[in-house]
Amino acid sequence: MSQNDNLFKKIMRGEIPSSKVYEDDEILAFRDIAPAAPVHILIVPKAPLDSLDELTDDDAMIAGKLLICASKLAKELGFASNGYRCVINTGKDAGQTVPHLHLHLLAGREFIWPAG
Ligand code: AMP
Repeated sequence: MSQNDNLFKKIMRGEIPSSKVYEDDEILAFRDIAPAAPVHILIVPKAPLDSLDELTDDDAMIAGKLLICASKLAKELGFASNGYRCVINTGKDAGQTVPHLHLHLLAGREFIWPAG
């Protein structure tokens, strides 16, 4: 699947509906369609990056923005004090299903560690 055609690109172009929680020039955040926790938000860079594996030093700004966006949303949506988990599935063994870098922001329940 080419970068123009992946699911998250279609969501960014508005071709597939999403429940948006944040957007700026570089990032889109929306609720996961199959939530794994009471709060499950996907934070997605608009740049054509297939996965964490593709990041280079030139991407330091966007990598930081993903994490800062997660931290800000946790505070704004009121779950920062209870805690939350950020996950970036990368590649086959991690179960990445959409070939576009995205950070899962999960909250609203307790999470076990190590993760399964
Ligand atoms: P991953 O398995 O890490 O690649 O995560 C992909 C995520 O995208 C999964 O948690 C899916 O539930 C989610 N997902 C798939 N289709 C949609 C959609 N149309 N809107 C929102 N989330 C989606």
